[in-house]
Amino acid sequence: MAARPSPYLDELNPAQREAVERLDGPVLMLAGAGTGKTKALTSRIVHLLNTSRARPNEILAVTFTNKAAREMKNRVGRMLGQTVEGMPWLGTFHSICVKLLRRHAELVGLKSNFTILDTDDQVRLLKQLIQAANIDEKRWPPRQLASLIDAWKNKALTPERLPAADAGAFNNRGGELYAQYQTRLRELNAVDFGDLLLHVVVIFQNYPDILQQYQRWFRYILVDEYQDTNVAQYLWLRLLAKEHKNICCVGDDDQSIYGWRGAEVGNILKFEKDFPGAHVVRLEQNYRSTPHILAAASSVISGNENRLGKTLWTQQEEGEKVRLIGHWDGEVEARWIGEEVEALQTGTRGMKPYGLEDMAILVRASHQMRAFEDRFLTIGLPYRVIGGPRFYERMEIRDAMAYFRVVTSPEDDLAFERIVNTPKRGLGNVAVQKIQTAARENGVSLVEGARLLLDSKGIGGKGAKELRILIDGIDRWRGLGIQREVEIPLNDDEVIDEGTTQSATRFAPAGDNMPHTELAEIILDESGYTSMWQNDKTPEAPGRLENLKELVGQLANFDNLQGFLEHVSLVMDNESDDADAKISIMTLHAAKGLEFPVVFLPGWEDGLFPSQRSMDESGLKGLEEERRLAYVGITRAEEVCTISFAGNRRVFGQWQSQMPSRFIDELSEEDVEVLTAPGIYGGGHSGAAGDFGSGIQDRVQSANTYNSPGWKRMQDRAGQRGLSQPKESKNTIIDLEAVSSYSVGDRVFHQKFGYGEIMEIEGDKLVIEFDKAGEKKVVAKFVTASTD
Ligand code: ATP
Ligand code: MG
Repeated sequence: MAARPSPYLDELNPAQREAVERLDGPVLMLAGAGTGKTKALTSRIVHLLNTSRARPNEILAVTFTNKAAREMKNRVGRMLGQTVEGMPWLGTFHSICVKLLRRHAELVGLKSNFTILDTDDQVRLLKQLIQAANIDEKRWPPRQLASLIDAWKNKALTPERLPAADAGAFNNRGGELYAQYQTRLRELNAVDFGDLLLHVVVIFQNYPDILQQYQRWFRYILVDEYQDTNVAQYLWLRLLAKEHKNICCVGDDDQSIYGWRGAEVGNILKFEKDFPGAHVVRLEQNYRSTPHILAAASSVISGNENRLGKTLWTQQEEGEKVRLIGHWDGEVEARWIGEEVEALQTGTRGMKPYGLEDMAILVRASHQMRAFEDRFLTIGLPYRVIGGPRFYERMEIRDAMAYFRVVTSPEDDLAFERIVNTPKRGLGNVAVQKIQTAARENGVSLVEGARLLLDSKGIGGKGAKELRILIDGIDRWRGLGIQREVEIPLNDDEVIDEGTTQSATRFAPAGDNMPHTELAEIILDESGYTSMWQNDKTPEAPGRLENLKELVGQLANFDNLQGFLEHVSLVMDNESDDADAKISIMTLHAAKGLEFPVVFLPGWEDGLFPSQRSMDESGLKGLEEERRLAYVGITRAEEVCTISFAGNRRVFGQWQSQMPSRFIDELSEEDVEVLTAPGIYGGGHSGAAGDFGSGIQDRVQSANTYNSPGWKRMQDRAGQRGLSQPKESKNTIIDLEAVSSYSVGDRVFHQKFGYGEIMEIEGDKLVIEFDKAGEKKVVAKFVTASTD
């Protein structure tokens, strides 16, 4: 069949076109930001389909986020001029591995309906193991073990393969605890995030016939953001591509920002070694940003020693310089950005008007978001937070999901623990311990342990009665038939290899069973969870009920409860599909690969950006990664890029004086315009950068800060405003009088240390045993009451 016409090829420059048309053999596209790598990769998929080289389900395409996967799929459809019938293997490493692992779970001792644990569950489980091993968890915190285990998994190290030096970590017990943790996960029929890849790599390594099926099936492999793959991902790709070698990876060493999570830039360099004769394509024309923005970004990144180095040029019009502004504190910065956003919408800055959806605020640390969220709520500016599962982090949502998990995955003990006494059923610690003992002694799940305990009358009173109601309820909900395991044939696009003998177990679609949305409501009603909030008189209760409604509403988008739970564990970006115009707030990490006409980069202060940790580290590694992050940030902007910093910032409840970021010094002066903030420095937009001395930092300082009369004035004004004291922030921080409302045993939340329980009250201070940070004495006004 003749290929359909290919207008998408005409949109490419010769280098991109070459990368798209060279379909066979390894291709590495190594190029700077905004040079059209992702566009070329997408066009390559279109070309594969258009020339009938591959069917949609024979293409394995890996993106970095679910959002990027969705966008890529949509673009392929648009370029082809038709909707693409299923690209089941276009997704993130994790989403693709979930699919693979569900098919072969039994090979690593799991069932196909395994649960994916989140970090909280993971830490809770490790805490139990650490306690059982009689290790002092204050000195050896579970969270530390969790990051060790993550790091090992990122390197594809199973407990058996762990080098002795690693096994000796964590007070010489690391290897042993890691092994126990993996065993426990199997018992729970659960995996953590790192397992998704690790298990699949192990299956590929141990079962060559299975690997071969997939090697044959995935005829073309494409990988975006290749610079951020870790060792496990790299091994996974190498195994899959070994046979046909039709692999195309695109990346930019200057944008490698996940070193802290085990990513290895070295994978790019290894590519040419592993795939000798790889065709390397370099792109140099940037299509995204104006010359000033590009030059400023390039000047910052040139400060890195460890880089391959590349030239970028653009044909865009001159445009605005990168705008730089200093503020008194983080709240003022948020206020200024709010006003600036409104001004940019109406075009009063001498620029064309921009829509809210054209704008983004990219922060270094997620705690910076709060100031913007507060401010935007106050002025009614619609915003969305991308990259944090905020909604799903809420207590009521986590509780509800725990109920769903208990129903869908009988072995999910962690979920059972969460709901057994929520709402209160008179089942205290002692009762729960009895259930645990019964379960352990009989080698069964907690639900079954509870049943045995009830049958043997090992528990009495109100608690027993309530527990019986709960267990009966769980049986009934399960019986309503959402999760019958039946052998049903795979869809066409899921069949890996014609003639395969492999059977696949899948869940029956809702069909004649009760719709899962209805079931979800029944679970929440019959368990008493909904009425718990209906009877709750706190001001938050109505909002929580709303959220539960929202949750049930969202379920309708999924085939069954399990599909939904899987989605929640995988989808880290919570942006809804609503089309309303909103400004986006996200971390720099989450902004990778994206672009916006208008970008705000707040918080450019030493200690925040670059982070304190990277500055404290010996060597340049951490600092260079931060600098790459700065480069990623600036290069997200198409037309207007505004960098800001604050002289004071409240970090986790403590006021700190900040110095402007060293990266500000590294911006090329001729590409930067220094603004002054109205109201604070007495000026409007200065526009005249040349008024100041040489060196951007000097300029910023003489314009705004530290020893100038202006600075003194600001300090006076701030004094009048009572700014030297931490300011009351709405909702989040309770006042001093509220100390009396606390009692020992209350659960509280602290911005820096997280959740914990009050052990002692001393004046205005509280001694709190934090779940993660251990025991700390903190000032009462920096904690909030928590019902979690
Ligand atoms: P990043 O490194 O940030 O991920 P990238 O190299 O993947 O960037 P793309 O996102 O693919 O770059 O492209 C950047 C912008 O340039 C997009 O808006 C894209 O549509 C546009 N673009 C890419 N190639 C061309 C081209 N040949 N002609 C015109 N516009 C292009
Ligand atoms: Mg890209």
